[in-house]
Amino acid sequence: MVTVVDVVDPATEEVFTSVPLASLEETDEAIARAQAALPAWRAVAPGDRARLLRAFAEAVDADREHLARLEVRNSGHTISNARWEAGNVRDVLHYYAAAPERLLGSQIPVPGGVNVTFHEPLGVVGIIVPWNFPLPIAAWGFAPALAAGNTVVLKPAEQTPLTALRLAELARQAGLPEDVFQVLPGAGPVVGQRFVTHPAVRKVVFTGSTAVGRRIMAGCAEQVKRVTLELGGKSANIVFADANLEKAAATAPYGVFDNAGQDCCARSRILVERPVYDRFLELLEPAVRGVVVGDPADERTEMGPLISAAHRAKVASYVTDGTRVAFRGSAPDGPGFWFPPTVVLPESPADPLVTDEIFGPVVAVVPFDGEADAIRLANDTAYGLSGSIWTSDVGRALRVSRGVEAGNLSVNSHSSVRYWTPFGGFKQSGLGRELGPAAAESFTETKNVFLSTEV
Ligand code: NAD
Repeated sequence: MVTVVDVVDPATEEVFTSVPLASLEETDEAIARAQAALPAWRAVAPGDRARLLRAFAEAVDADREHLARLEVRNSGHTISNARWEAGNVRDVLHYYAAAPERLLGSQIPVPGGVNVTFHEPLGVVGIIVPWNFPLPIAAWGFAPALAAGNTVVLKPAEQTPLTALRLAELARQAGLPEDVFQVLPGAGPVVGQRFVTHPAVRKVVFTGSTAVGRRIMAGCAEQVKRVTLELGGKSANIVFADANLEKAAATAPYGVFDNAGQDCCARSRILVERPVYDRFLELLEPAVRGVVVGDPADERTEMGPLISAAHRAKVASYVTDGTRVAFRGSAPDGPGFWFPPTVVLPESPADPLVTDEIFGPVVAVVPFDGEADAIRLANDTAYGLSGSIWTSDVGRALRVSRGVEAGNLSVNSHSSVRYWTPFGGFKQSGLGRELGPAAAESFTETKNVFLSTEV
């Protein structure tokens, strides 16, 4: 019996298509095909592999509007964000197209011969993608993996398989050999778990919740399998009294409500230095009330719906009758998994609003007293993914950046991702780094060969 998953438009609740979910046997077949495709793919000359990745990038670019519209429908992303996401796949492919010709080994002086190192592909790479950014997160894994000569089987999230399936079609159209890049929609505990247990899968790249990531790491340990984990976050947006308060407040909604807060880098705690706490809230209120929430296909929309009814129920469970809500933005009535941008003022650092990754448009504002207190509060979490620091003092910006335990910080800005710089988390936000110049090498083993010159 074929199991299928309904694909739902989160803005209308309409089921608009369904997709078959792969079985265990189909997963094993896909892994076997990826393994069979390896020798030919690793033998492709670096310049030819680079050309194929560039052709893939150009196919994505030509299909960009279509991919973006598909993402709007499947994930509820705003059209402007979805265009950026499809463009990011193109850019990441172009960036790693430069890698095959630059994966350089080394020659190390040794007595009695010549010593050289090679970067060998790992083999089959299994990539597990969450529903919140189906396009970019897929590309951050498959582009460097393919560039380094690996073959890839990618499992999109059950809720959002459509754009990944389209990417597999575009790869074939661009000339990538069959089975080098396969997309296999399926259930996490079936397809994803098989990546962990199958000995031919040599590396698992997982992006998702810390709870599942922990299990994946434990499973990979059984085979000492390589694993990259990009997990949850509870990032701090730290606003000092000497900051440009107007700009910090005007942009804070973008830092947390982008993608309706379903963003691992969401700055879901705003820490404000006590002397400007009241003024900051005064400035934040119109910015939050002004967020345009609605039809994600409308060019003016700034925030769309949540991914599902179940996820909305989880987000809503954090905002109860006893919650101190400072103010809220708007949300449409009627069908769609809507939730308004919400600013809360928790009284205790142990409040789940301060400690939990809510993964929705809810932000906690907390006062602090001085630099040391800001760093202490920012680090008072099991996570360490992202964060922002707002100050006009460069020395302070650097001191606090060095003190905060997080992988991606921005000063006087909320941006987290540039594909040519490394991305990843401290503590329970993950293991390893994606993107940037080192990512292609992270999909290789270093091999050392000594050639004796003694006869
Ligand atoms: P999730 O952990 O529920 O699912 C992620 C993926 O794992 C899905 O494809 C799912 O099918 C699969 N999966 C589920 N159970 C599995 C299992 N037992 N074995 C193997 N695979 C399994 O996460 P989600 O709800 O889809 O995504 C939201 C989470 O992702 C948030 O915690 C968010 O912070 C995190 N995230 C992190 C980053 C980052 O780069 N650090 C980026 C985006 C999202």
